[in-house]
Amino acid sequence: MTDDRILIDIDGVGKTFTGQDGEEIVALLGTDLKIGRGEFVSIVGPSGCGKSTLLSLVAGLLEISQGEIRIDGQTVEGPYTDLGFAFQSDLLLDWRTVLGNVLLQCDMRGLPATSHEARARALLSSVGLAGFEDKRPFELSGGMRQRVALCRALLLDPPLLLMDEPFGALDALTREQMQVDLLAMWQETQKTVLFVTHSISEAVFLSDRVIVMSPRPGKVLDTIDIDLSRPRSLGIRDEAAFGAIVRRVRLLFQEMGVIHA
Ligand code: ADP
Ligand code: MG
Repeated sequence: MTDDRILIDIDGVGKTFTGQDGEEIVALLGTDLKIGRGEFVSIVGPSGCGKSTLLSLVAGLLEISQGEIRIDGQTVEGPYTDLGFAFQSDLLLDWRTVLGNVLLQCDMRGLPATSHEARARALLSSVGLAGFEDKRPFELSGGMRQRVALCRALLLDPPLLLMDEPFGALDALTREQMQVDLLAMWQETQKTVLFVTHSISEAVFLSDRVIVMSPRPGKVLDTIDIDLSRPRSLGIRDEAAFGAIVRRVRLLFQEMGVIHA
């Protein structure tokens, strides 16, 4: 990848936590990864291998122990704000309306909510939530709540989206719909997406590249280019080429002893 194409450069990154009893927990060690502008990259790896830690380091929410992360050539040294973050738990505030939850971004950054309200409404409408602006989160289904959380992450139109198992709590059908909608949004907006998931097929379906991480201490074990054509629809999962890539990733997990055949 040429230098001007790289948005995120994760360079020899390590993270060591100190546990409750003072013991050292090496979560990441020697992690190298370059992510291009506009790329959709998924990270898969066994539980506890440091996926969430890596996203938090990219966002500057945790202090790095070794190495360096650069975004757009700038070293990340504190919270990096030009990004959207979406988590498995939607973290919606029940005492705020749907619109109020999307506009929370403004309150947190001291921006006037009124100037962002039109965009918030347009985003909600684009994910099928027109008419729900004044509802409270507890009145919505899990899929609708996750859409609200996505709108909140997109409110300030960040060029980079970090997503940590965002669809993990959804039922299978809703999850597939969310994947299709996310791809459509990505295709339209050209954002860079770094997406963590437990689901190999979800990673293959969405991504340009799938990064497979080793068990803790996590590092990049393998990178698989997903050369399936775009735009992709759910039907692509029935194709032989799709199955072959999924099998290849699964084999890596078997070799690590994470899955037993
Ligand atoms: P993953 O998201 O891949 O499941 P995490 O990044 O959450 O893994 O965690 C990686 C490892 O670091 C785990 O062993 C976890 O227990 C440990 N860890 C994460 N956060 C902390 C923390 N704040 N203090 C101590 N250990 C932590
Ligand atoms: Mg995690």
